[in-house]
Amino acid sequence: MSTILELLFPSRCVICDDPGIQLCTLCRSNITPSFTKAEINCVELRAGALYGDLVSQLILMAKEENIAAARNVLVDLLVDAYVKLDRRDAGNQEIFLVPIPSSQSANRKRGYRHSYLLAQGVRERIRRSGNAQIEIAELLKVNRKISDMSTLTREQRASNVNQAYSINPRGRAGQAEGGALILLDDLVTTGSSMMEAIRCLRAAKMWPLGAISAGVSPHLIS
Ligand SMILES: [Zn+2]
Repeated sequence: MSTILELLFPSRCVICDDPGIQLCTLCRSNITPSFTKAEINCVELRAGALYGDLVSQLILMAKEENIAAARNVLVDLLVDAYVKLDRRDAGNQEIFLVPIPSSQSANRKRGYRHSYLLAQGVRERIRRSGNAQIEIAELLKVNRKISDMSTLTREQRASNVNQAYSINPRGRAGQAEGGALILLDDLVTTGSSMMEAIRCLRAAKMWPLGAISAGVSPHLIS
């Protein structure tokens, strides 16, 4: 029976395992889209969805378990965010997605760079839709050990990421002068990582145009 189902429905819902599509209609309906913009240090942030149990589950699956179907759903949400972002100031410049990095040790442990893979998904999706002027620039790197943010209070998060990033020379070498930078992360909760990323880029005389995330904490947007 399962073979017939798999022939009829080649993929399954990543959350409830129902045959059909990678995220079934019922599970998809439990994700609340985010239509409001937030501002982080004068940089517009757009998100695909409000943070909730399902978004949290998808992030864990993509980030820690490398589940492609979960990553694809996060990419969908990031593309939604990208579409909503005001990109008029970019003009005809090439767009560079700037992933918010994980620590080197987390990348080594996982064997992949989570936010880079998300950026890759977004780039491919946008290129397919006809906009070829989009690249990835890994401009940021983590300076030191950052604790797992999920266990920290708002104040702890802020000091946890204070001066945490610096410019990654290799990423900078690959980025053409004059491109428009869009920061990218899976989730923005208090905005402290995003704030630190903006600070770091500005200190190097780079002015991000906007930021996108798959999920955003409901209390960050008004
Ligand atoms: Zn489902």
